[in-house]
Amino acid sequence: MTSEVSRRSLLSLGAGLGANLLAPGLIGSASAKAPKLGTQAPYFHRFMLGSAEVTVVSDGPLPLGDPSGTFVGVPKEDVQKMLTDNFLSSSNVVLEQNAPIVNMGDRLILFDTGMGTSQLFGNTAGRLQKSMAEAGIKPGDIDAVVCSHAHIDHIGGIVDANDKPLFPNAQVYLSEEDFKFWTDEGKLGSPLKDFIVHARKNLMPVKDRLVFFKDGQEFLPGVTAMHAPGHTFGHHMFMIQSDGKSFAFLGDLTHHQVLLLEKPRMEFAYDSDPKMAAATRVKMLDMLAANKTAVMSYHFAWPGYGHVVKSGDGFRYIAEPMVMNL
Ligand SMILES: [Zn+2]
Repeated sequence: MTSEVSRRSLLSLGAGLGANLLAPGLIGSASAKAPKLGTQAPYFHRFMLGSAEVTVVSDGPLPLGDPSGTFVGVPKEDVQKMLTDNFLSSSNVVLEQNAPIVNMGDRLILFDTGMGTSQLFGNTAGRLQKSMAEAGIKPGDIDAVVCSHAHIDHIGGIVDANDKPLFPNAQVYLSEEDFKFWTDEGKLGSPLKDFIVHARKNLMPVKDRLVFFKDGQEFLPGVTAMHAPGHTFGHHMFMIQSDGKSFAFLGDLTHHQVLLLEKPRMEFAYDSDPKMAAATRVKMLDMLAANKTAVMSYHFAWPGYGHVVKSGDGFRYIAEPMVMNL
């Protein structure tokens, strides 16, 4: 009997392993009693930086759709090939929104705040508060909200639908240049209208709590601003340091871990000055690669933490493995 079964098993292997394994009523039915759960892991990731604790929380993905029109200055076919070579959709480019919350010991600092109530890129964004709750971080405990720039997906989560500040005990840090540019009512009749409306909605209610930082200034202990203009004129990245360890929060220095690294001179449609943005990108990435500085990029694939290295005419992103014990 036993030998008969083994002989049949061997025959079935020879006759086509895949077809038999996939046939209903064989292996499948024995393991299908548990329902599919349809849920995902919480949208936060935590790691240590020196003695500081970093919790990356997500505001959710931003699906940009077809890359042509958004990523410009390079032939469309090249963009498609770069995406497919990296096993990414060539018809829908998705940007993540990775916001680090750094507990420095003496204060809790959130960098960038997501889309908030804006549905300009669909309804997958706007989950920053939910991600924070999953991470066990209370909005009232945030001491500082630091914004890389005043674009809709970075300042959008400062207030709620009723314009009430969501971080009631926080100072808000931004460059003065971006505050002035993006809250300017004179631009309400321009193509920037949606951005101006949302910047005004989020920044005007906290106007008396705004602190403007300057290039090179360590405006909070362990947090230094670095002017990185072009994406917006007042766009800044930040060096974050604790006990001799550091990483650079890049904000929107680069929006995609393949497209705007392999070809860093490619232009991005949402840049205020695409040529200036590209020059800044190359200069800063050169410096980060040469110094082997760890980076966190707001829009890279989740959770957006790793290093950049030089590769050919451009750069390559090496994601840091997620370490699940602190
Ligand atoms: Zn952005």
